[in-house]
Amino acid sequence: MGDFPTTRTKTPKPKPADETLSFGKVLTDHMFLMDYDEGKGWHSPRIVPYGPLSLDPATSVLHYGQAIFDGLKAFRGDDGKVRLFRPDRHAERFNRSAGIMCMPELPVDIIRQSFDALIGVDHAWVPHMPGTSLYLRPTIIATDVFLGVHPAHSYLYFLILSPVGSYYSEGVKPVRILASDSHVRAVKGGTGEAKTAANYAASLAGQRDAAAAGYTQVLYLDGVHRRYLDEVGTMNIMVRIGDEVITPPLAGTILDGVTRNSAMTLMQDWGLRISERPITIDEVMQAGRDGTLREMWGTGTAAVVSPVGTLGYKGEDVTINGGETGELTRKLYDSIVGIQYGRTNDAHGWTSVV
Ligand code: PMP
Repeated sequence: MGDFPTTRTKTPKPKPADETLSFGKVLTDHMFLMDYDEGKGWHSPRIVPYGPLSLDPATSVLHYGQAIFDGLKAFRGDDGKVRLFRPDRHAERFNRSAGIMCMPELPVDIIRQSFDALIGVDHAWVPHMPGTSLYLRPTIIATDVFLGVHPAHSYLYFLILSPVGSYYSEGVKPVRILASDSHVRAVKGGTGEAKTAANYAASLAGQRDAAAAGYTQVLYLDGVHRRYLDEVGTMNIMVRIGDEVITPPLAGTILDGVTRNSAMTLMQDWGLRISERPITIDEVMQAGRDGTLREMWGTGTAAVVSPVGTLGYKGEDVTINGGETGELTRKLYDSIVGIQYGRTNDAHGWTSVV
């Protein structure tokens, strides 16, 4: 595809100070768009000023939710270079989501080119302060104007960018998590494995109820037995019981997290025993009671790792590692962040300079 036609904004927005950044509120000056039509394939890639999309009210995505997205970050390193973290793996997952949602795939190299080109245009929006980053949100929506349920014949790919603040402005902080016995997020044979809008809609009521009960996030259990750990709202989950680190397997209901894979790879490098196996909430609660549950944490692009200080289930709370961040959780956080900012050796070639 080469260079993309680019229309630059005539009214650049003021950039907020890095200290004021939070998550997802500020968007940059430009966006990348590309259309798909059956028979024609993907066409008309372009970079244009950031702004509203005009959609007919009968556009199918607004009714039936045929939409996928992904989320990844670019980091400005101490050496001034901007690095994307595992962009290929995110692009491949984006395409897996497309397949599950009956949407056309996009060649990985075109996705990569869209990342590089848009960051190139909005380079000055990559924040400088330690802990900050530029969040990328590639998305595809169905654009058929038709009130029937069917896979669309036309789609829009868009990429938008948002400078985001440090997730842990006051240091890594353990969270309170509620294992829900009433809400289910996904079932086998459904869409749990796709990064699709509906999964997040399905998680809202559980999140609301957990917040009302004084917890930060929900840990979803499997939808059939209501016993096995699935994942947290926007994170995969890992527990360290005795000398084993356990994480639920990729069996169709959870997202194949990039941070999950990175954490597992590092722990394997360190010679730790990692098991991808089904694990019940009863096993975790029992380990919490008898003191063998040494650490528990979530993994995801937003926080990297998020230590669980308290786990609640059916009215009982267990405190993990005295409510403090555990040593392995801390080591994983420091190691992944070190690679992202170009401070430590990127032995697996995860980063890519833009
Ligand atoms: N599960 C869900 C449902 C998510 O939305 C996310 C965030 N993308 C994750 C897990 C973690 O995935 P990743 O490490 O790729 O960000």
